[in-house]
Amino acid sequence: MGSESIKERIEFLRSEIERHDRLYYVEARPVIGDRDYDLLYEELLKLEREHPEFHSDSSPTQRVSGEPLSGFAQVRHNPPMQSLDKTHSKGELADFDAMVRKEVDDFTYNVEPKVDGVSMSLFYEDRRLVRAATRGNGQVGDDVTLNVKTIRAVPLRLPSSAPESLEVRGEVYMTRDGFVKLNEREEEAGREPFANPRNAAAGSLKLLDSKEVANRPLDIVIYNAGGTGCEGFSTHSEMIETFRSWGFPVTPWSKTCATMEDVYAAIDELETLRHTFRFEIDGAVVKLNERSLYDVLGATAHGPRWARAYKYAPERAETVVEGITVQVGRTGVLTPVAELRPVELAGSTISRATLHNADQVERQDIRIGDHVWLVKAGDVIPAIESSIPEKRTGDERVFVMPTACPVCGGEVQRLDGEIALRCVNPACSAQLLRRVEHFASRSALDIRALGGTASNALVEQGWISDPLDLFSLTNERLASLEISGRRFGKNSESVIRALEASRNMPLERWLFATGIPGVGTTVAADIAAEHSRMADLAGSPVLKNVIENDSLKGKERKILPIKVEAAKAVLKFFDGEYGRRYLARLQEFGIDPRSAPKAKVATEGPLVGAGCVLTGTLSRPRGEYAEMIRLAGGNVQGSVTSKTRYLIAGANTGAAKTSKARELGTEVIDEARLLELLGEVADTSSSAKEPVSSTVSNPSQTASGALEQGLLF
Ligand code: AMP
Ligand code: ZN
Repeated sequence: MGSESIKERIEFLRSEIERHDRLYYVEARPVIGDRDYDLLYEELLKLEREHPEFHSDSSPTQRVSGEPLSGFAQVRHNPPMQSLDKTHSKGELADFDAMVRKEVDDFTYNVEPKVDGVSMSLFYEDRRLVRAATRGNGQVGDDVTLNVKTIRAVPLRLPSSAPESLEVRGEVYMTRDGFVKLNEREEEAGREPFANPRNAAAGSLKLLDSKEVANRPLDIVIYNAGGTGCEGFSTHSEMIETFRSWGFPVTPWSKTCATMEDVYAAIDELETLRHTFRFEIDGAVVKLNERSLYDVLGATAHGPRWARAYKYAPERAETVVEGITVQVGRTGVLTPVAELRPVELAGSTISRATLHNADQVERQDIRIGDHVWLVKAGDVIPAIESSIPEKRTGDERVFVMPTACPVCGGEVQRLDGEIALRCVNPACSAQLLRRVEHFASRSALDIRALGGTASNALVEQGWISDPLDLFSLTNERLASLEISGRRFGKNSESVIRALEASRNMPLERWLFATGIPGVGTTVAADIAAEHSRMADLAGSPVLKNVIENDSLKGKERKILPIKVEAAKAVLKFFDGEYGRRYLARLQEFGIDPRSAPKAKVATEGPLVGAGCVLTGTLSRPRGEYAEMIRLAGGNVQGSVTSKTRYLIAGANTGAAKTSKARELGTEVIDEARLLELLGEVADTSSSAKEPVSSTVSNPSQTASGALEQGLLF
């Protein structure tokens, strides 16, 4: 390739990746699978590495880059980033409306969610993101550009329809699911969990190492104009629509209202929807829609006079702490749990809430017998907000963390740098039970037929002292297991069947099942993709390379899919006595988990280098065809361009589409012809729906899989 065409290819890859990022992270409707995406990304990385002359800070490969900072530079906001005046009742909103009507008339309102996150300013110069800054004190905030670039929903470049210089403002937040998972990780690592998604988002943005931020499930929504480039909009709703067309994530719900009755109705409707958003909301924001009136109304020192926040009453319930028990986790972490008088809160009955750790109980001064306020952190996790000391009778008891493991009586330690206490007895039956449950869980080896009570009986009665012992159980023996006076009986058969099936589970499932701290499903999949067998993980050069790479500086450092912490944990595990024994036992049991080999992409054939566009109704899922085309050396495009060789027109393809394609020199073919080109017998009857295993390496990894992952992080 000549230098010009390399430049073009790089540009093509960058725009394709940007487009797929937008479809995946902003619109939640991906059109290609993870593998195809990875291939685009890898090709771009390779070309950029070979041609540093085409480097660009706004390339999608530059979302995670640079060295950890020693501190944040300061950014002055122009105009200042203001707060919002708040109202708590419709009466107060009516006062606001009266104030507005005294000064202006002929206007509408816009009602939108008040996102509970961290306010953020994004500045674009030459349509490239050059600066992201927190609100700070409103006048001056922190320059957190490197951290914000890691948020995949933030466009690094804007289309040519956007102004060259632009500032927009919005809110960075952590998704609910992401928050729950992050807190699980934090607790497992013995660290203090975050109280709510907002704190988690704020804490993440304050990290000095953007590589760490990249692991935090952050997202953004844009809802305000900044000081530059937004002058031309006459209404707020038009502005937001235009932001959307420039690729910014904006609120999925808003209402334009002509009367205050409409405003009240919108606020009530939004309240019923408050738990359905990806972000937490703590109220509604009512804004004048006509932007030309903003100058007339002006602002106070606190906030604009053309907008009001309406805060919803926090959803909380009062109940009583009847006791505090202590749970022992898979890695031995001791967690105090409040046993509550059952109470209804935001749609469910709650009888327990984690208190996280002893320090937290002490800090919140929660006593056994206390009346407390219960809330849901991140709208999902029951949490005690505070005790209600006025209601104390004097009979309450202060909780004392046990000095020995409440289950096995083993020694309890606080490890260096950790907030949590851990039972350090390797034979602890509580830890073993949790490990067995994890091993058998759905994302691990899926031996759900075992169930909690049978696992418990196996551990309690000393039948197993390690999850792998499950493989030494026979059907007869398992059938004779007694669970509270009854035999396990015939149930044993499904357990044995599931165990048999688990022998052939892929490496990523086995690696996850092994339960190495910090190795969740995503990490396990990333690591498995780079290894073919479990035994290869011990002393793996790939993992060592990840750690070495991390100590490199600047440009020499590559972006690798495996995280350093995870690489360290896996190496440590298999280097240890237990890990070695674990591998040896797998071998004894004849279990040899492998990862699905990467299918080879064809280097010759009719589809090599061919841009293909799929349209109309096809008899197989698009992801499947995309994968087949890719393996045949072609690439799937979203729309027809001068570079498209084939338009594959399924049923119901409009004539306009095909004639436009022909104009651009694209050949229009049907599904049967595609299959021919792919070297398959053309047959679009029902049998063609079977995935063709020789060409499709992993048909399950289609768009829906990606969507699921995207939503769950
Ligand atoms: P508070 O932080 O409670 O004083 O509320 C004011 C803040 O609400 C603003 O600074 C914004 O960060 C945030 N906010 C959230 N959603 C919106 C929205 N839709 N419009 C304006 N501000 C919003
Ligand atoms: Zn123990």
